[in-house]
Amino acid sequence: MPSHPELITLRRPADGAAVGTYRTVDEHGVREAVAVAAEAAPAWAALHPRARGELMAELARLMGRDAELLARLDSEDGGKPVTDCVSGDVPSAIEAIRWFAEAADKVSGSVAPTDGGALGITTRHPIGVVAAVVPWNYPLAMAAWKIGPALASGNCLLLKPAEATPRSVQHLAALAADAGLPTGVLTVLPGHGAVTGRALAEDPLVRAISFTGSQITGRQILAGAAASNFKRVSLEMGGKSPQILMRDALSFGEELFEEMAVSAFLSSGQNCTAGSRVYVDAAIFDEVVQRFVTAAEKLVLGDPGDPRTQMGPLINRAALERAEAAVSDAVTRGAALLTGGAAVPVVPGGHYLPATVVANAPRDCAVSQEELFAPVVTVSPFREEDEVIALANDTEYGLAASVWSRDVDTALRVARRVEAGVVSVNCYSEGDITTPFGGWKQSGFGGAEKSLVAFDQWTLPKVTWLRTRIKED
Ligand code: ADP
Repeated sequence: MPSHPELITLRRPADGAAVGTYRTVDEHGVREAVAVAAEAAPAWAALHPRARGELMAELARLMGRDAELLARLDSEDGGKPVTDCVSGDVPSAIEAIRWFAEAADKVSGSVAPTDGGALGITTRHPIGVVAAVVPWNYPLAMAAWKIGPALASGNCLLLKPAEATPRSVQHLAALAADAGLPTGVLTVLPGHGAVTGRALAEDPLVRAISFTGSQITGRQILAGAAASNFKRVSLEMGGKSPQILMRDALSFGEELFEEMAVSAFLSSGQNCTAGSRVYVDAAIFDEVVQRFVTAAEKLVLGDPGDPRTQMGPLINRAALERAEAAVSDAVTRGAALLTGGAAVPVVPGGHYLPATVVANAPRDCAVSQEELFAPVVTVSPFREEDEVIALANDTEYGLAASVWSRDVDTALRVARRVEAGVVSVNCYSEGDITTPFGGWKQSGFGGAEKSLVAFDQWTLPKVTWLRTRIKED
């Protein structure tokens, strides 16, 4: 991996065409950026929270002005259908910045219930210079989930986008400057994970790092923190999420199949919360599978720039080969391929895999256990509630799940027993900006994102214990 700045040509996953270039930041560049952030940090932390919020609100306004451009950049770089970027990613990124801008002066400390002789006051403080490393599947939205609370609570953030998708966040950094955020408050450092990302994880002046990506990288970031300054680490490392359909689920009609398809195939399954394991009560299994396969086959696979496209290409050839190999391994071991499974030449130069459904997959094969980041779903019947709980929890991950039943007792009982950070009932959802998002088990730890809970990740609590010497009668 070159350790000096390098000019990278960006090729869009849609067809491999070059869409731009950028220069990577090397270790020296990271050190320089950290120094600039460190210089900006005291003044930014000392600014009235409302003033920080106002600057961030202006940033959100400029993002709204440039929403179309931001959507196009994310769609071109990541290969995500432009319709999803326009209706999902960009509005949710703007909402995150605006919501945390509004929250900047709404979060107070607390006073402990001590006796009259003392006041135990807890206040929250910025950490200082902090970093974020984000993946390519939600370039702008993932960045906004981290930028929002990090900046609102008074930190200076260095953000490394993924190699394939730097342009939307680079534009965001330019908008931040236009909005009046001081130099060093938000710095975008594009580059290789093993160079730029690693330098951030190992930097002795960076006091916290928030990461979203793979488990392999999560381990390296933890190692970097351990080898340097024990910086705070927060990790979100994906999932292998179950969709659980109880016996009465068919009563939801077509809505059920539409939501199941979104859960499984949104962004061609390149989504941390993709519902990639479907468990269905045996009494309705055959009908559900047949209708789900029909819904999957209706999805429009195509050029992500075409507004009719519902599923775009996979990010690169390696991702396609991995998914195809996992499906053919499952089939070799006795699974049934119900639809999809092989690439289709939708647009020359792109890697397009149609929605793929596999039945009877052994529990220990890749389609059952690995986060494939592809539109590949397993379907399995169950007979007892205990059985489906065991199946749903038979994974090292614990990010998300969905449960379908009109019986509120059943739905809530199952939701309660599934080991996951977010369980949606009778829909597929991660909640909204007001609800925390974070995984259980090996999906991650170190603090949730979104909602006021996100401030825990980006602030340091301080207790001031004040003796009052007030005599109680
Ligand atoms: P994915 O499989 O989603 O691409 P990665 O974990 O490879 O997940 O990448 C997520 C982010 O982590 C990207 O921005 C990538 O550049 C970065 N990254 C990769 N390797 C490292 C590393 N050793 N240290 C820090 N960041 C890294």
